[in-house]
Amino acid sequence: MPHHHLRLVAAFIFQLLALSAMAQTPRIATSILPLQMLVKAIADPANPPQLILPPDQSPHDHLLRPNEMRVLRNSTLVFWIGPNLEGFLTRPLAALPKTTQVVSLLQRTVRPSAPLADDPHLWLDPILTASMVEQITATLSKADPAHRDTYRARALVLQRSLQRTDKQLKKILNPIRNKPFIVYHDGYQRLARYYGLNLVASVSRNPNRPISLRRLQEIRHIITQQRVSCLFSEPQFPSNSLRPLLQDNLRIGILDPLGVRLSPDRQTYHQLLVQLASDLRDCLTPKRLSEN
Ligand SMILES: [Zn+2]
Repeated sequence: MPHHHLRLVAAFIFQLLALSAMAQTPRIATSILPLQMLVKAIADPANPPQLILPPDQSPHDHLLRPNEMRVLRNSTLVFWIGPNLEGFLTRPLAALPKTTQVVSLLQRTVRPSAPLADDPHLWLDPILTASMVEQITATLSKADPAHRDTYRARALVLQRSLQRTDKQLKKILNPIRNKPFIVYHDGYQRLARYYGLNLVASVSRNPNRPISLRRLQEIRHIITQQRVSCLFSEPQFPSNSLRPLLQDNLRIGILDPLGVRLSPDRQTYHQLLVQLASDLRDCLTPKRLSEN
């Protein structure tokens, strides 16, 4: 074999080794806080996943900032839901080097024929959350086989905790199953479907954009006809957007599906879901508030 061929082969082997070394210690990035919570519970605590989207921003309507691009560039493994949720990541992710593994959890866990297949709010459905945990664990184990057992063990603990969360949510939500409510942001169909809640309408798919007059009239009509007592907004949306819908006997509640209001020491998936369920209950059963 000619000498320069040997050198090429050596360079190739060196590159392979470098690639496999990188693959063993994934530098992980996650798109939104709920995903970071799940991945953090499985990943090596010494190597926690970085967060791309600040939780005070809506993933539906965000523009990637330079520091967020740096997080992406520094990672070798990116978890996101998919273009339906974090549309702002679609192009930046496509532009990353081939060595960066990008995992869309919507693509991995939802069949295109499944009900609500387009709804990207997967973490509000316990069954899909459990499948996401499986996908995350499988991906980490493949990228870093040396620590496979640790990932599996941590995932098992997380799955058990998810089951407890689900039980607690059923307890909180069962008493309000029949109470009609409206959400401003169309992000709760999965939650309502799983827990059998009476979600009668969602005002908008993208609440950061202005709502048409016609839609406002429709919603006002639904509120009166179905005797809706609660309308839920989110911390990310301007409160004046709700003003045209305010009327007597309609209470306004805030739901926090991204966890922006959780204090840093309570940023777990369990806290996120329990808080969400409690906020639903507290608005729909106002008597509880005065009793407490
Ligand atoms: Zn959403």
